[in-house]
Amino acid sequence: MNTNQSALVLHSGGQDSTTCLYWAIKNFKEVRTLCITYGQRHAYEVEIARKIAEKAGVPFQIMDASIISLLSDNSLTNHNMIMDQEKPEDSYPNTFVPGRNLFFLTFAAVIARSHNIRNLVTGVSQADYSGYPDCRDTFIRSANATLNLAMDEQFIIHTPLMWLSKAETWAMADELGVFDLVRNDTLTCYNGVIAEGCGHCPACKLRNEGLKEYLKLKLATDVVTLLPVREKVKEEKHSPLYYELQSAFRDVKLMIDGKKKEKTAEEFLAELSDEYERK
Ligand SMILES: [Zn+2]
Repeated sequence: MNTNQSALVLHSGGQDSTTCLYWAIKNFKEVRTLCITYGQRHAYEVEIARKIAEKAGVPFQIMDASIISLLSDNSLTNHNMIMDQEKPEDSYPNTFVPGRNLFFLTFAAVIARSHNIRNLVTGVSQADYSGYPDCRDTFIRSANATLNLAMDEQFIIHTPLMWLSKAETWAMADELGVFDLVRNDTLTCYNGVIAEGCGHCPACKLRNEGLKEYLKLKLATDVVTLLPVREKVKEEKHSPLYYELQSAFRDVKLMIDGKKKEKTAEEFLAELSDEYERK
């Protein structure tokens, strides 16, 4: 295996790491995933990750690191603790698992090395997760230097999502052609509910708000592509199509403002284009 063309992806089966998996598949010839369990709430996550790796056609490896859950108390591994829904003012939310990403990257680097891989990919993001210190870029750079010194190697830790908002992460999944897969087959929810999740845990809120924002943006872009169509029929002021388009634009505007429930934008705009083609 050429070390420059292979990557190991830390994969949990969630939105972020699945997007990273497909980013890696696009950027490296050979990719494998590593799914680390640490006594978190739902072992179901692992099954999701396994299925996604299978679908992507990449090797899947699972590693048990439940020792992490014995080292400190947090609401992801202590199932009796009530999960913080918001970040407390003076501390981290109790969903913070101290040292998690440091452990994860260390395990990943050692395992990557044994497969002659030097590229590591992780889905941490500093833009949206202001909560966790080990999602920050400074930490990743420092961990990268430490791992290189520890093993006298030249690892490169890739963080494709570091500066992206959740909406931009959805956009990336869409660009990579896996928007539906990420939307329907991944599990981000702290309560272990696939796809849109339970809707009220912090992970769901972040994911669903990002999705909403992205869909709005996409809708707006679709509208822009239809503008020339409207211009074309403008001359035929009294044609029914012109009025239809005008009302369609009003509807789309209401959808963007969240005042009107969508059909879906795609269906709606497709109908319009069909109509126009027929004329
Ligand atoms: Zn949830």
